[in-house]
Amino acid sequence: MKRVLVTGSSRGIGRAVALRLAQDGYAVVTHAVRNADAARETAVECARISGQPEQPVLVFDLADRAATTAALEADIAANGPYFGIVANAGVNADAPFPILEGDAWDKVIDTDLTGLYNLLKPVVMPMISNRIRGRIVTLSSVSGVAGNRGQVNYSAAKAGVIGATKALAVELAKRGITVNAVAPGVIETEMAATIEEPELVKRAIPMRRFGTPEEVAGVVAFLFRDEAAYITRQVISVNGGLF
Ligand code: NDP
Repeated sequence: MKRVLVTGSSRGIGRAVALRLAQDGYAVVTHAVRNADAARETAVECARISGQPEQPVLVFDLADRAATTAALEADIAANGPYFGIVANAGVNADAPFPILEGDAWDKVIDTDLTGLYNLLKPVVMPMISNRIRGRIVTLSSVSGVAGNRGQVNYSAAKAGVIGATKALAVELAKRGITVNAVAPGVIETEMAATIEEPELVKRAIPMRRFGTPEEVAGVVAFLFRDEAAYITRQVISVNGGLF
């Protein structure tokens, strides 16, 4: 049995990734911070699809290092290390820079960037010591690759995710663990539902539409395949040609 943790799998892209990895037979450990019931529904559905035993639902705030570490260490001690991790959970708090308050900066950096450290630190060593030639996939964004108006905080965090992903990929390559980032454009989830004038945004996208969570999940699942074992330190965009 190969256990895979997908953070933020209560909804949106994380839920789609969890269900897609379940299709490939992984035992998916789900996670949420507020919507634990929704994450539990994902876990039940994953177990049905994969045929694997139902895995626990982890509940923690990624910005809370002590809570994140405690939840991960307890799950690994009770149920074993992960074959893979999809660092998907994230937040945005958009505002034009002149009115971007310190709280919005801190929240996004603490959750999306420092949260990545909080998540990966407790899970990587158990992968190494168990000689697991596994997979780590992080979720960046077109904002992290290109920068985006109204998202100075989010662009900084998501660019930081790319740097951390590439550096960790170099460190873990000799262990056979691949580390890659997926950088979506605009994907139809609750995060994108806040976009003002969506039709205007769509006109800027060569494909003239937003992407679906399943279109991101397919790329993550590809990175988990045996055939993708030689792909590491990469950023793969899923953005309809936006950038
Ligand atoms: P959603 O807003 O739909 O879902 C966010 C998920 O993250 C939820 O499961 C939520 O849990 C969890 N989460 C939020 N805050 C925290 C926290 N502090 N600690 C732990 N978990 C938390 O997001 P998307 O599915 O749209 O996005 C998924 C990833 O993809 C994110 O990293 C996002 O930045 C990135 N992305 C999204 C794009 C888009 O257009 N949608 C574009 C580019 C990148 P709960 O349900 O409990 O609140």
